[in-house]
Amino acid sequence: MSPVDDLPPLRDVIRRHELAAKKSLGQNFLLDLNLTSRIARAGGRLEGVTVIEVGPGPGGLTRALLAEGAKKVIAIEKDSRALGALAEIAARYPGRLDVVEGDALEIDTGKLAGDAPARVIANLPYNIATPLLLGWVANDRWPPWWDGLTLMFQREVAERIVAAPGSEAYGRLAVMCGWRCEAKIAFDVRPEAFTPAPKVTSSVVRLIPRETPLPCPVRDLEAVTQAAFGQRRKMLRQSLKSLGDAAALLEATGIEPTRRAEEIPVEGFVALARAVAAARG
Ligand code: SAM
Repeated sequence: MSPVDDLPPLRDVIRRHELAAKKSLGQNFLLDLNLTSRIARAGGRLEGVTVIEVGPGPGGLTRALLAEGAKKVIAIEKDSRALGALAEIAARYPGRLDVVEGDALEIDTGKLAGDAPARVIANLPYNIATPLLLGWVANDRWPPWWDGLTLMFQREVAERIVAAPGSEAYGRLAVMCGWRCEAKIAFDVRPEAFTPAPKVTSSVVRLIPRETPLPCPVRDLEAVTQAAFGQRRKMLRQSLKSLGDAAALLEATGIEPTRRAEEIPVEGFVALARAVAAARG
C-alpha cells in the first residue's frame, strides 16, 4: 500500500499505461508519494479549495492533492496517454477530479476554476513554466482568481523569480512577480527524485498575491522591464531610449540616468511604467 492512498504504486501505473517519459512534453515524473504530499502541503491547507494542476502525467501529485483534502482538482494534461491512469484516480475519488485534455498555454485556467477559492499547484513542464507563470501573474485581472501558486521550477528559474535588486538573477521575472506577489522558495528537489532525472536541481516556489500591488498598466511595466533588462549592462538613459524621451522619463521619476536596470527596485520600475503611460496620454 502506498503512503497516501490504496491505488497502485506509480511505477506499476506507468508500466501498465505505457507512459514512458517524453522529453518533448517536459516529462520528469515524481514517483515518491511522500514527496508529492510535501509539495501539496506547501500549497497550504487544501480543504474546501479547488486546485488547478497543470500536467498531472501519471498522477503522483494529483493523488497527493486529493489525499490532502482538496475539494476538487482540475487537471490539464496534453498527453492523451495519461488519461487512463487519471481515470483510475478519478474513480477512487468520485466527483473530485476533472481532467481536461489540452494545452495549458491555450486554456483560460481562471475560467476553469469557477468561483474562488482556487489555487494552482503543479510540477510544471519546464519548457512552458515561465510563460505559464507570467500568464497567471502579469495579466489585466487583479486580484487574481487564485489565492496562491505553488510551482516546481528549475532552481535557476526559481532564483530569478525571488531575486532581489543588485543580484545577477534580478531581472524581468523578479520585477513582474515581485510587483504582484510575495514569492519564496519553499524547498529544493534533487534531480534523482524525478524519473527520468533532469540535469539540474529543482525548487518549489510559493507565490502569494499582494492585495494592493502598486497601480500601473501591465503592458507598460512589461515594456519598461524589457527595455531596461534587454540592455542590462547599459545605463538607463541609454537602455530606455526605445521607449521615447528617456531623459524625461527618468527626470519624472527621480531616478538617476546613470543607474542600471539591476539596481532599480520594483517601485522604480512601477514609477517608470506610470511615466510611460502618462507620456502616452
Ligand atoms: N505532475 C506529474 C508529476 O509530478 O509526476 C508530471 C509532471 S511533468 C514535469 C510535466 C507534465 O506536463 C507532463 O505530464 C506533460 O505531459 C504535461 N505537459 C507538457 N506540456 C503541457 C501543456 N502544454 N499543457 C498541459 N500539460 C502539459
